[in-house]
Amino acid sequence: MSVTPTDVASMHSDAEIVVLNPATQETVGSVPNFNAEQIAAAAERAHAAQAGWAAKDLPKRLRVLRRFQELLCAQKDAIAGVITREAGKPLAESISTEILVVLDAVQYLLNHVPEFLRPEHVPHANPIMKLKRGWLCREPYGVVGIISPWNYPFSLPSVQTLTALATGNAVVLKPSEFTPFSSLELQRLLHEAGLDPDLLQVVTGEGGAGAALLQSRIDKLIFTGSVATGRRVAQAAAARLLPVVLELGGKDPMIVLQDADVNVTSSAAVWGAFMNAGQTCLSVERCYVHESIYDKFLKQCEEKTAKLTIGFGHDPATDVGPMIHERQLRIVQTQVADALNRGARLVTGGTALPHLGPNFFAPTILADVDHAMAIMREETFGPVLPVRSFKTEEEAVALANDSEFGLAASIWTRNRARGKALARRVNAGTVMVNDVIACFGISEAPHGGVKASGIGRTHGRFGLEEMVWPKYVDSDRLPGMKKLWWYGYGPAFIQQMTGFIDLLFNRNLTNRIRGASRSTQSYRQRKPF
Ligand code: NAD
Repeated sequence: MSVTPTDVASMHSDAEIVVLNPATQETVGSVPNFNAEQIAAAAERAHAAQAGWAAKDLPKRLRVLRRFQELLCAQKDAIAGVITREAGKPLAESISTEILVVLDAVQYLLNHVPEFLRPEHVPHANPIMKLKRGWLCREPYGVVGIISPWNYPFSLPSVQTLTALATGNAVVLKPSEFTPFSSLELQRLLHEAGLDPDLLQVVTGEGGAGAALLQSRIDKLIFTGSVATGRRVAQAAAARLLPVVLELGGKDPMIVLQDADVNVTSSAAVWGAFMNAGQTCLSVERCYVHESIYDKFLKQCEEKTAKLTIGFGHDPATDVGPMIHERQLRIVQTQVADALNRGARLVTGGTALPHLGPNFFAPTILADVDHAMAIMREETFGPVLPVRSFKTEEEAVALANDSEFGLAASIWTRNRARGKALARRVNAGTVMVNDVIACFGISEAPHGGVKASGIGRTHGRFGLEEMVWPKYVDSDRLPGMKKLWWYGYGPAFIQQMTGFIDLLFNRNLTNRIRGASRSTQSYRQRKPF
């Protein structure tokens, strides 16, 4: 059973946010705009519940995740419907890029969290420290705040929430005001799976609710959204020394080398630029094609774009749905107009499609673009594929790295070794050779960027590390022995230490032997303490 708007509204009676279907403009429902007091209270409740959850046997915690996985698998069609209704994306993408990703992430957690949380022995190389035994333990932060955007309204907050819960944290989640119902479905499924409701609380609301969450009793924040909001979040977090992960925007380059398969690569470019109506942080945002195949590549991209069906996401035949709202569409229109004014060539598209609705924009290909154009510098959250040619590998790498962003990139070549070598030279959190975007669906792969694309990682081992703080536990094997470095300072102490340093680090064997002897002799002359 889905969470209905009425269920949510009955929880709080404050100002409401009306959520619209971006394709049809119909009302999906309304949710409360939580105020700062309500959000502070939610974080307090989470805080009170978290210690018991962290102390629970891990198999019991993981049982909740397993049950959640069963419920999600059984209800995939209904949940996909909720995602499509509020985000507009085709059902095919709600299933493949949202639900499948989450089911696989749960499996990853079930398989890996037991080993991840097992205390790890830390061997000591220094001979004197061999008298101690060290372990690295991973402790949950406590309450993890999560702030999410609208473009992947289910998979983004779900993977982060499940990772936080599996490692013993409680979560307070503030979804995007445009797509709150997907997060409410996540909450419902987890509560049905047996999770104490205080351990995951979804606080719906606008930007102010996110700002209030930052000031509440959370111990860590995972923020996903735009660079502009990310900067504000980072400043507020710095003021209270709150650790944060920032998953921000991208301007992902695609480099097509001359030996690439043009048929495969053009399909990848069209899918990579237009899936989710181009509103993917990892989407192909800049395409650089070797001059020898440039015209052929453009022609095939144009032909394949002509085959796409644009329409309402809930129609199974739809390839490209609407954009999220008109404001976003206007930004894309402005960027396309700027490119055309500066000399870009329109291959196809370039216009809004008002007969379908106010948020539809035609999949657009621009050729002969350059880096003076906004379309090559600013994030384009819309269905636009800007393409330009290059002559040499050096030029392609320089163009790819000429960006304030560094989220992901792709390289296309039949020579996998060449692709891998080139990947090392591109500054991005992820570089895929011969695929795009799919890294988000690889549960083992860390997700995150460099430069303005953010700080920290979600997903995989690195995503798990973000949910815990490392505690080093050390146990001395000789509890009845005073330590050499304690008081009893004086010339003998210094002799002992310098002798020990020579023993360990002097390159000359004679000096090392002398150091050992000096250290042993001076030990006997030390002042007792
Ligand atoms: P946004 O920055 O406008 O909003 C993101 C979230 O922050 C929303 O929940 C919003 O309500 C909240 N928010 C707004 N003001 C806030 C404030 N002052 N304090 C705290 N929270 C506040 O982003 P958006 O338009 O929802 O999403 C699109 C952006 O997200 C794009 O830039 C995209 O690249 C990025 N994104 C990044 C990733 C990634 O993993 N790197 C994934 C998806 C989307």
